[in-house]
Amino acid sequence: MSDSIIDTTKMSEGQRAALELAESSRDTRELSGFAASIFDGAPDFSTIFPFPVQPEDDRKKGNVFLQKLRTFLSGKTDPDAIDREGEIPDSVFEGLAEMGAFGIKIPQKYGGLGLSQTNYSRAAMVLGGHCGNLTALLSAHQSIGLPQPLLVFGTDAQKEKYLPQCAKGGVSAFALTEKEVGSDPARMKTEAVLSEDGTHYTLSGEKLWCTNSLKAFALIVMARTATPEKPRATTAFIVEMNQPGVEIVTRCHFMGLKALYNGVVRFTDVKVPVENVVGDVGKGLKVALTTLNTGRITLPAACVGLLDRSLEMALAWSSTRVQWGQEIGKHAAIAGKLADLAADKFATESLVLYTSALVDADKNADIRMEAAMAKLWGTEAGWKGADSTMQIKGGRGYETADSLRNRGETPDPIERLLRDCRINTIFEGSTEIMHLFIAREALDPHLRRGAAVLDSRKDFAIRAQTAISAGFFYSLWYPKKYLPTTSGLPNDLDTELARALRKVSSLSRKLARTILHSMARYGSALEKKQLLLARLVDIATELLTISLSASRAYALGDKESLETARYIARRGITRCKTLFSENGKAPDGAGYRLAQSLMGK
Ligand SMILES: Cc1cc2nc3c(=O)[nH]c(=O)nc-3n(C[C@H](O)[C@H](O)[C@H](O)COP(=O)(O)OP(=O)(O)OC[C@H]3O[C@@H](n4cnc5c(N)ncnc54)[C@H](O)[C@@H]3O)c2cc1C
Repeated sequence: MSDSIIDTTKMSEGQRAALELAESSRDTRELSGFAASIFDGAPDFSTIFPFPVQPEDDRKKGNVFLQKLRTFLSGKTDPDAIDREGEIPDSVFEGLAEMGAFGIKIPQKYGGLGLSQTNYSRAAMVLGGHCGNLTALLSAHQSIGLPQPLLVFGTDAQKEKYLPQCAKGGVSAFALTEKEVGSDPARMKTEAVLSEDGTHYTLSGEKLWCTNSLKAFALIVMARTATPEKPRATTAFIVEMNQPGVEIVTRCHFMGLKALYNGVVRFTDVKVPVENVVGDVGKGLKVALTTLNTGRITLPAACVGLLDRSLEMALAWSSTRVQWGQEIGKHAAIAGKLADLAADKFATESLVLYTSALVDADKNADIRMEAAMAKLWGTEAGWKGADSTMQIKGGRGYETADSLRNRGETPDPIERLLRDCRINTIFEGSTEIMHLFIAREALDPHLRRGAAVLDSRKDFAIRAQTAISAGFFYSLWYPKKYLPTTSGLPNDLDTELARALRKVSSLSRKLARTILHSMARYGSALEKKQLLLARLVDIATELLTISLSASRAYALGDKESLETARYIARRGITRCKTLFSENGKAPDGAGYRLAQSLMGK
């Protein structure tokens, strides 16, 4: 029997395999932190007030690098040319390597800059508003390529061997996806078999869409290392690209990110020494998921840059373009988009800076929820922001920067930025998978207490015992979810924000009650109610976003930040009310049946 907390006996073989693998790779620590407390209906604002301020010496160190990066990007790179030609010039690789951009977080003893997570996120913000291709190059290398997993799981020997090369500009990559393996790693075919003498693994298989692989000197590769006891075990390996048997089959091309060095990589009987196993044998997916926990902050950070640049272009155009007798920014339809852009930028930045600060305060901090929520919210906001900037710019938004330049107009690159950012809601955990991931974590405390009651695999006595102790727990927990208390708000908080955060508290209690009601109503079938779960996750994410934006605005104290945070709060609370009102009323079931009948199922 699987040790999964969830009863999988009524699932199909494929569903069971996917779920059991996901369960066995989960971080099993009990959730903590502000995001988790929102789901529990007990947000303690003292954990986010005061908003964590980057220490001055850390900020100064970051500023030195960011200044170099900005100067280099604006003087020595042409993102439109990179997009047009689909290539990043060697001089750009060299310039970035020289300033240390390939080793931002790698400790100085391995030749890196040794900068903090906050400074790394700030660098992603600078890159994200400038060039998607360079953002993807540096992020795939550092956030999911060799540096991040080695910093967390690598042995000293692995760090000494590979990190200096990474820091110097040796590009790395991460290979998990296969033709049959997108969001579901249980279908993985790439396999590594241990040699009889135990010195190496023989790796065979094919990986799809491996970003940076065409330029990489080494990859982190996920492969099956099945044993009779653990038939679905996966392991993470460092694989050097110059090894015999490693081959790039083809370069892949996309709607945007035209200069992504992304390819299909084939491994034919590649000998990988056992020293190249990263983390424990059989725990590859755990390495991947843990890497992604921190790695995931980079995408929303890049979206902050994207939103900042979009807002700049949108404001410039809205305040000068006159149609129907006034600047278009004075038409309410456009003004609403400008407000949303500013709000989304501020909110995403608040999510990213808060989560980065958690990592800087404690490298082992549990940021599962915060990072996933930042990824979910920030990448959706980035895409919507680019889309509305294109709308604000009208026909010029749809025109390429080159064409605008040829006609003597300001070459705003929103057409390129929009193409480049579309992928952000798909990779490193799609929006749908983020909803499921966050929902699973949110339900965990309840599942720990009560899942055994519904688990048909368990003895009656165990189920009855669980029911009694869960019943006792909930008899104390449940009434508290009706008590109108709010804790941890500073006394001198702006009146409107204080009122908004009291509302956040009450919506959080309603969320906790709704989660419990839904579990009681649907039991193990709740897992199938994806649209309901997504709404609950979206409510929690809005509440997190409102709270962090308010806390940051309070710390900054300026009029514009406070006004922006008030707008974020009003908009977010309205959204939450709408989402709550859809529960039980939205035609989820009818939609599901329609889709099945359209598919002939
Ligand atoms: C430009 C680009 C760069 C990439 N770089 C890398 C890389 O460097 N390394 C790497 O390993 N991979 C990389 N990928 C792969 C990327 O991570 C995957 O595309 C992503 O994981 C989704 O997998 P998929 O495309 O196969 O979609 P699928 O998993 O087939 O999903 C298709 C759709 O179904 C949804 N879906 C899937 N399962 C569920 C479910 N259980 N419930 C609800 N909805 C579901 C998804 O959200 C998605 O909308 C890259 C992809 C692209 C396009």
